[in-house]
Amino acid sequence: MIDIHSHFFPCISAATAEAANPGRAPWLRIDDDGEIGQIMVGDKPFRPVYRSLWDPQFRLQEMDQHGIDIQVNCATPIMFGYAWDAQLAADWAARMNEEALAFAAADPRRLKVLSQVPLQDVKLACAEASRAQKAGCIGVQIGNHAGDRDLDHPDMVDFLIHCANEGIPVFVHPWDMMGGKERMRQWMLPWLVAMPAETQLGMLSLILSGALERIPESLKICFAHGGGSFAYTLGRVDNAWRHRDIVRQDCPRPPSEYARRLYVDSAVFDEGALKLLVDVMGVGHVMLGSDQPFPLGEQEVGALVRGAGFLSAPQRDRILGANAVEFFGL
Ligand SMILES: [Zn+2]
Repeated sequence: MIDIHSHFFPCISAATAEAANPGRAPWLRIDDDGEIGQIMVGDKPFRPVYRSLWDPQFRLQEMDQHGIDIQVNCATPIMFGYAWDAQLAADWAARMNEEALAFAAADPRRLKVLSQVPLQDVKLACAEASRAQKAGCIGVQIGNHAGDRDLDHPDMVDFLIHCANEGIPVFVHPWDMMGGKERMRQWMLPWLVAMPAETQLGMLSLILSGALERIPESLKICFAHGGGSFAYTLGRVDNAWRHRDIVRQDCPRPPSEYARRLYVDSAVFDEGALKLLVDVMGVGHVMLGSDQPFPLGEQEVGALVRGAGFLSAPQRDRILGANAVEFFGL
C-alpha cells in the first residue's frame, strides 16, 4: 500500500524561526513528554500535533500498524512562506527540503518526500524544484494559489511547464482558504467548505483558462482531497461551458474532457463519493491519500478503498499502489 498524501513538520526551534523570519516563520513546541506538541507562529498556537508529525521512527511504526509500505510526505502548508520576501522564502524552502530529506533518511525505501518552493517567484521556484529533485525529493508540493495568483497565472503555468519538462510530479494542496476570517470563523468551516472550493478553483483555473492546452501532456499533477468540489460539480461546469460563451472563451473543449489530464487522491471518506470520483477521473487517476497525521485524515488508512464494493480487485490494487508507482516513478 502506498499513501501519497501525508505531512511532516520538522523540529524547528523558536530561535531558528525567529532568525529565519521574525514572527512569521512557523516552529514546533514539543511538550515535555515528547508525545504531543503545537505548531506555533510567533507566540501564537496554530495547531496541536503529535509525535508522528516530526519523528520518522514513530511514523514508520504507524505505517507498520496500517500496512503502509511507502508513504509520500510533504510540508504542512503553513511552512510555504508564499507571502514572504521571495529570496527569504527560497532560502527557507531549501532548508525545509533538507529537513524533509533528513526525515526520509530514517528509511529512504519507505519514506519519500516532496519539495516545497517559493511559488511567489517563478525563477526561484523552478530552481528549487530542480535542485530538490536532484537531492532526492520525488516531486514538488505547491499550494493552489500564491496570494491572488491562481494556477492559470502565467508564472504558475511557466512553473508547471518547467515541472513537465523536468519530469517533476506536482501535488497541489489547498491552503490559505477563502472567507476564513469572518464568515467561516467556527466549526472548522474553512477546512470543510473553503478547502474543497480552493482545490476546485485550482483545477478549474487550469482548465477554463486553456492552460492545459499550453502545458505539455507529460505533466503529472495531482490534487488533494479527491479534488475537493471538482467531481461533484463538473456537470454544472460543462453545462455552463455549453450555454455561456464567457465560460468557453479560453477553453476549447468541454471541461470534463480535461479530467483525464489530472490526478486526485482518495481522501473523500465516503464510498459514494469515491465511486463518483473514479467515474469522473478514471480508475488510473485516483491514488490512496490519507492526509495523516492530522485529525481530518483517514484514521484507518486505506479502509475506504479496501471496503469499496464497486471496485474490482485489480482496480483496488491500482488505487492502493500501482497508480502511485507510475505517477512518481517509484
Ligand atoms: Zn494535507
